[in-house]
Amino acid sequence: MAHGNDTPRLSRRGFVSAVGLGTAAALAGSVVGSESAYAVSADEARQRVVVIGGGIAGLATAWLLDGHHDVTVLESAPSLGGHVASVPVETSDGRRAIVDLGAQFFGAQSHPIYHKLVTSVLQVPTVANRFDNTVTRYGEQTPVMVTPGADRPITDVLPYLPALQAVAELMDRARELEANRDWGVTVTDLVEAMTVEDALKQSLVYPYVASVNGATVSQVKDFSARAALALGVRPLVGEGTEQTTDYVNARDGLQSVISAMAGELTGVTTLVNTQAVGLTRSGQVYQVTDSRGQVHLADQVVFALPPESAVPLVSQLPQAGRLTQIYGRFRYMPGRIVIHEDPVYMPALTADWSSFNITHDDDYAEASISYGRLRGDIDVFKSWALHRREEPKRLLAAQDFRHPMITPDFIRAQGDLQGLNGKDGLWFAGSHVVDVDSQESALYSALTIGNALAPESANRTRLGVLPTTPVTP
Ligand SMILES: Cc1cc2nc3c(=O)[nH]c(=O)nc-3n(C[C@H](O)[C@H](O)[C@H](O)COP(=O)(O)OP(=O)(O)OC[C@H]3O[C@@H](n4cnc5c(N)ncnc54)[C@H](O)[C@@H]3O)c2cc1C
Repeated sequence: MAHGNDTPRLSRRGFVSAVGLGTAAALAGSVVGSESAYAVSADEARQRVVVIGGGIAGLATAWLLDGHHDVTVLESAPSLGGHVASVPVETSDGRRAIVDLGAQFFGAQSHPIYHKLVTSVLQVPTVANRFDNTVTRYGEQTPVMVTPGADRPITDVLPYLPALQAVAELMDRARELEANRDWGVTVTDLVEAMTVEDALKQSLVYPYVASVNGATVSQVKDFSARAALALGVRPLVGEGTEQTTDYVNARDGLQSVISAMAGELTGVTTLVNTQAVGLTRSGQVYQVTDSRGQVHLADQVVFALPPESAVPLVSQLPQAGRLTQIYGRFRYMPGRIVIHEDPVYMPALTADWSSFNITHDDDYAEASISYGRLRGDIDVFKSWALHRREEPKRLLAAQDFRHPMITPDFIRAQGDLQGLNGKDGLWFAGSHVVDVDSQESALYSALTIGNALAPESANRTRLGVLPTTPVTP
């Protein structure tokens, strides 16, 4: 056991697998010079690992380390999952389903590793999505844009051709940013460079980008354009008007993925309703105090909680200055999701209804997803509802969230945080650590830690050869 004052040495293999060959080669000199700073071992010495946060990132980290280290997961909420929040609902006509208040969509192209985990390793059932889009200005009957869809041929939407062309140009430009791996262009830079007329930028393009990020137009303008549109362009398949996304849902909600993973844990202690409130270090050992007054000793601590929640903990450490400075650059905004049966946020004419419907008043721009059109199993709506002027009737569930504001500096802060990974036995997991806000980025961050701390991980082996992911930094 490598406990107490043992300082496990950073093995070359562990470091290489943690950060990728190129980077490791570039940093080889500094690794040798700073070995003692890294309490990392790939030599299979069993260590005490405390994971703070039981969302997909924390849970995946524990799943990867299971059997190789003594792992404890502390989760402040009553259940694991974090922003994965599936709820059972029953409609007034007695139909039942489990719907996702939080994360919902994933695809083989946008979430290749996560998709493989869910479908091949955990074998969680999925259901395909049918995507189409309507954008409407608040209070107006005629939409600004209606896209073709499964039951709506291109001939039905010809009046919206200029709008469709504007979105096609937006996506082309976003694809270019993806190809160039360019995070530095803001949404304003991108939209202002577009050739479409100004009126269409205000009535369609900005609200469209805002709504897919849970943001207002004024908030989204400073976002990195690549980040703002990544989950729009990555899943696209097909050509021209046949183009759609390859997104699926977990049939019984994404919580079924969390349950499947948690159900496989054999040697991990998971404590829910247990918030980490204190963090100190004596010698090489961390003491993590939880809200029940229990102290957990740890050789490695994994921060798998959002930056805003991590700051009160890291600020108790000697290296607080640098960490709180980096964490402070991850900015968030509020969001509210409601599940309801009231078509209050849908376009005036049912012929214009899409699976993804955006209403805006030039600044607020919120989406309402029709489960009926999207997957056909239950007629409920999932709506972003922070700024709406009416409350829906027949409300079935609601939850407040915090959405990241992914500006170019947010992305630079990710690089700075990744640079501290493993230093002094502290690790950083979560969708904020790399790329955009998604299950794929959260999982990727966990894999980085798993590769370093348990390169022979049995669960990692089950994932096999990893598909190429757009998340790679
Ligand atoms: C409404 C909404 C829709 C989304 N849709 C999608 C989608 O369709 N597809 C997709 O891929 N992604 C989507 N996302 C993003 C996705 O949900 C997140 O990227 C991902 O779930 C984040 O996982 P995480 O583990 O990094 O963080 P979280 O899920 O935030 O988990 C962090 C955990 O830490 C816990 N915690 C906080 N403080 C403490 C403490 N002091 N002690 C102990 N525990 C603590 C929290 O309770 C939480 O459970 C969506 C997000 C939202 C909000």
